[in-house]
Formats: sequence, structure tokens, C-alpha cells
Amino acid sequence: MTAPRLKVNWPVLSDALALGLVLLDGRGRVLHWNAWVSRYSGIALADAQGLTLDQVFPGALPAPFRTAVGNALRHRLPIVLSNVLHRAPLPLYARPEHRAGNQRMQQSVTITPVAQPGVGHLCLLQITDTSTLATRERVLQLRSDRLSREALVDGLTGIYNRKYFDDKLRAELERAQRSQTPVALVMFDVDSFKPYNDTYGHPAGDRVLVAIANAAREQINRATDVLARYGGEEFAAVLPASDKVGAQLIAEKIRHAVELLAIPHAASSVAAHVTISLGVACHDPRDGYPGAQELLELADRALYVAKRNGRNQVRWTISGATPLDIFPSTRR
Ligand code: GH3
Ligand code: MG
Ligand code: MG
Repeated sequence: MTAPRLKVNWPVLSDALALGLVLLDGRGRVLHWNAWVSRYSGIALADAQGLTLDQVFPGALPAPFRTAVGNALRHRLPIVLSNVLHRAPLPLYARPEHRAGNQRMQQSVTITPVAQPGVGHLCLLQITDTSTLATRERVLQLRSDRLSREALVDGLTGIYNRKYFDDKLRAELERAQRSQTPVALVMFDVDSFKPYNDTYGHPAGDRVLVAIANAAREQINRATDVLARYGGEEFAAVLPASDKVGAQLIAEKIRHAVELLAIPHAASSVAAHVTISLGVACHDPRDGYPGAQELLELADRALYVAKRNGRNQVRWTISGATPLDIFPSTRR
């Protein structure tokens, strides 16, 4: 069976396409372009025919695009200009009002050399509008950024969550070991917080946690320090490259900053305002590196001693100290 013969009207067909077609001769002059190109460039085919793209769009074509067309014509090299690297090589506008602000349509351009017997080498440009694709990509990117942020960040306070903190602590301990630098951990807990909730209500308690997180964040100013909400009313900070003096100083600053908030707390066993107790665990690089769990336990133990000794204070300890001593902060 022979295939039915179909007489195709190519100009009509190409004008019906939802993509741009431009045919250049061997010297880069426009032989033909379809209605799509006329519509979005605002230039009729008759006004472009016989001119090079540089003449049609003077000063408007980026160098990589001109090079790509030149290579296709001279060396017959096909190329796809991705819309990631070359967002909008041709001055095409999805809407006429975009022209004033030079807000070009985002494009993906495929440049194909075509050998045409009797005519020589031509060059075909296919242009697709990727604006909607780019918008979709942006939406997906925003969504994935938000999801990864949510996986790292505590919903109430906006500081890091425990999961992120645990990962970071382990990574920082490994890094400290490689570089033989100190690392410190600060844990703190709100004093008499249960009575606070009982007196002022849970939502007010939540606002206290936010205020404390913000106050602590302001005291932790190095980019490598990580502050997290470790549990309900418990916070933790890992301080890379901080020795016992530096870590105590930061802990004291956090304690002081919370006092300065002067949040009234009539039911506190400690003061007339909200306070926190802090435990600091440092380590001496000469004594080897503790694991994350060990450092957490040390800080917790120091925090416990701070609580037992009257709260609203910093206690610190150092790994490798035998017997394990818990020291009052000397920086108060
Ligand atoms: P201490 O000084 O020994 O730390 O006494 P405390 O009352 O703070 O300690 P306790 O562990 O008995 O109570 C902690 C309270 O923290 C109990 C719980 O209701 C409250 N809490 C934990 N998470 C949240 C939270 O997300 N929001 C609020 N408002 N309260 C919380
Ligand atoms: Mg607690
Ligand atoms: Mg508490």
C-alpha cells in the first residue's frame, strides 16, 4: 500500500506553530521567519528579509548568541542555548507593554545548520517561550526552599531545631578534631517556667520563648555558631573555635541579655523577672575529642549544677577533667 500523498503548505503550517522559526542563508541573512516571530518581535517578515539578525536587531543581541549563530554558519555546529545560561537572547516580548521596560520573553533557542542541495548551507533557529517554565521552576524552587527551611527551623522561635543542631554538633566536632581547634557547647533552660505558664498562660509562655531565642541570637554573632531550640524550654548553642574563656563569656552574655528583657515573673523562685540557667561544656584539645553525646551530657550536668545552686547563673565544665568538676562562671 502506498502512502497517501499529502500536499503540505509549509508557510501556513509554520505560521500555525507555537514556536519561532527563523531561516538564515549562508551569510546570516533572514530568508524567512514565521508569524510567531513577527508577533513577538513586532517586526514583519518583509522588513527583515535580506538583513542579518544584527541589522534587524541592532545592538540587541548578546555576544554568546551571535557567536553561536556564527559557528553554525561557518563551522556547521548545532547548538542549544539553554534558558538557564541565556535567558533571553532575542528581543521578543510576550506582551507589547513589556517592550518599554525591555522585559524580554524567556527563551530556549536551538540553532541547527541545514544543508540544502542547490542552495548551500542554511541555518535554522527554533525559539521556544520558556517564561511559563521559568515561573514554574521558580515556584518549585521557592517551595523546596521553604520545605528545607521548615525541616531545619523551629516553628515557634525561628531558630534551628534539634535535628539540625544534632547534625551540626557532630559535624563541628569532626571539624574541630581535624583542625585541632576547641569547640564548646552551651545549654540553657528557663527558670521556673512551669509556674510562669501557670500564672500567665501558655501563649504568654510561648512569647517568652520567642523573646529569649531572639535575645540569645543577638549574643551569638559568629556565622559558624549555631543556636537551636533543643526541647520545649531548653536551648543549645554550639560554638566552634571557642575555648572555655570565650564560651563562658558568650554564656554570660546570653544570661545577662535575658535578664535585661525584664519580663515580669511574679511566681519565680529566683527573681521578679524571667531568668535562665546555663551549662557550658568545653574541651581541651590535648585530651582528645569527646563525642556529641558526651559533650551534651557534660553541658547538661553543668546546667543541673547551675539549677541546684540557685539558678540564673552559668556553670561550666571541661571534658577530660578528673574528677569531673563543675565551675562557677568567672565572668559574671
Ligand atoms: P526549672 O527552673 O527547674 O527549670 O523549673 P521549670 O518549671 O522551668 O521546669 P520544668 O521542667 O518543671 O517545666 C518546664 C515547663 O516548660 C513545663 C512546660 O509546660 C513548659 N513548656 C515546655 N515547652 C513549652 C512551650 O513550647 N511553650 C510553653 N509556653 N511552655 C512550654
Ligand atoms: Mg526544663
Ligand atoms: Mg525550666
